[in-house]
Amino acid sequence: MQSSLDVRNPATNEVIGTIHNATPDDVDNFVNAAAEILPTWEKTAATKRAVMFVNAASLIRARVEELAVLLTTEQGKPLREARDEILGSAHVFEYYASVCGSIPGDARNLPGYGYLNVVRKPLGVCAAIIPWNMPVMIFAWKAGAALTCGNAVLAKPSKTASLTILKIAEALHEGGFPKEALQIVTGSGGETGAALVSHPDVRHISFTGSVVSGKAVSLLAAPHLKKMTLELGGNDSFIVTKTADIDAAVKAAVRNRFYNCGQVCTSAKRILVDASLADEFVHKAEVMLSGYVVGNGLEKVNMGPLNNANQLALIEAFVEGVLDRDEAQLVYGGKRLEMPGNFYAPTLLKNVSPLAVSEEIFGPVMSVIPFNTPDEALDIANSTQYGLGSSVWTTDIGTARTFAESLKCGVVWVNKHLTLPPEMPFGGVGNSGFGRENGRDFVYEYTEPKSILFG
Ligand code: NAD
Repeated sequence: MQSSLDVRNPATNEVIGTIHNATPDDVDNFVNAAAEILPTWEKTAATKRAVMFVNAASLIRARVEELAVLLTTEQGKPLREARDEILGSAHVFEYYASVCGSIPGDARNLPGYGYLNVVRKPLGVCAAIIPWNMPVMIFAWKAGAALTCGNAVLAKPSKTASLTILKIAEALHEGGFPKEALQIVTGSGGETGAALVSHPDVRHISFTGSVVSGKAVSLLAAPHLKKMTLELGGNDSFIVTKTADIDAAVKAAVRNRFYNCGQVCTSAKRILVDASLADEFVHKAEVMLSGYVVGNGLEKVNMGPLNNANQLALIEAFVEGVLDRDEAQLVYGGKRLEMPGNFYAPTLLKNVSPLAVSEEIFGPVMSVIPFNTPDEALDIANSTQYGLGSSVWTTDIGTARTFAESLKCGVVWVNKHLTLPPEMPFGGVGNSGFGRENGRDFVYEYTEPKSILFG
């Protein structure tokens, strides 16, 4: 096992840093240190925890430029998006500050039985497994929720996006969180990650990543009966009905689909457009894309590179495959860009066969699928194994309600897509996983009820 791993800038392929490749023995030491602090950490007053979150959030806000540059350099996204993600993480920590001290319980008289008191206890040592696409935000969701409830967290970032998380953790420690209660475990998924999720003293796993890795993690956790949440991929539909404000829909679809180079779990991966509007929609999207500047995220660009060479190869193979099989028509882009780094042109495909996009396409490809009736749109939207998010674009409340009730997924947006406030439960159904993050549901994920019946 290598002792360290290189981190590369996806815009240049240059090595920009190294991370420690934690061994199973390292993981064991981290878990033991976390377990040791639990009895004290669990009893820390909620107001103290809230102050730690507030302190950390203000340090992150003060360092936003430095952190955003680092995030762009290791992940690839444009600086503007990196800044949003850093500030978004501060916002998440402020949200958790606001809910510290309001973990619900129950206390009531049960005539004939006694007096019931239900308290919610922390789970203990929790593992947070984080992907490379929105590393800082996903880290904030998981660490924020677990720490609020009095757990210790061991977060394992992706090997291609660890550096900014290490810096964010520094701010949390400076803000007051004990080092042992929050530890960053860097390394590969197959070795370091596997050692962490299979450690018997890790009692909860919150995993975000691909379906394949999610299944592997489930198998490692099963012998220890660990509690877990799986936030897996998505294949969101973005449904543009006859009554949509088409200009607003096109603008939102393009911005959303090419945000973070299309590498977002709730990206609008399948754009379903009423056939009567499809030509206009495609034309307007093409006009927008023709003004898109692609390049190093540190420069003034609309879109950066894909995060890694593997992802670039997958996207290239997908586009070549659907075009070869006549499952779609190319309108714009459709090629790797001749520059150093993992660059692929923003790509627009029309008349896409729904079957061609039944799997998640995690990159800058907009697939437009025409439909003739609302029922057909619903059938196509629900025809994938995934069920993370979907949006419906309409000015008619009845249409909005019909779609919202019939779409099989964890989140439905109306005239919006991708907005994820920390107050809103987030997660999926089917191959998108189970369990929820954010909202008040985090309390149920990161605590266990303990019933005490007084005679
Ligand atoms: P990935 O599954 O390759 O890796 C995710 C994390 O799991 C990484 O930290 C990796 O090191 C770790 N890992 C991999 N194998 C492991 C194992 N056997 N044991 C323990 N840890 C292991 O995913 P990725 O390529 O980093 O991210 C892209 C995927 O994540 C996409 O499918 C995307 O849709 C999904 N995603 C989902 C959400 C969501 O909330 N639903 C959010 C973001 C990304």
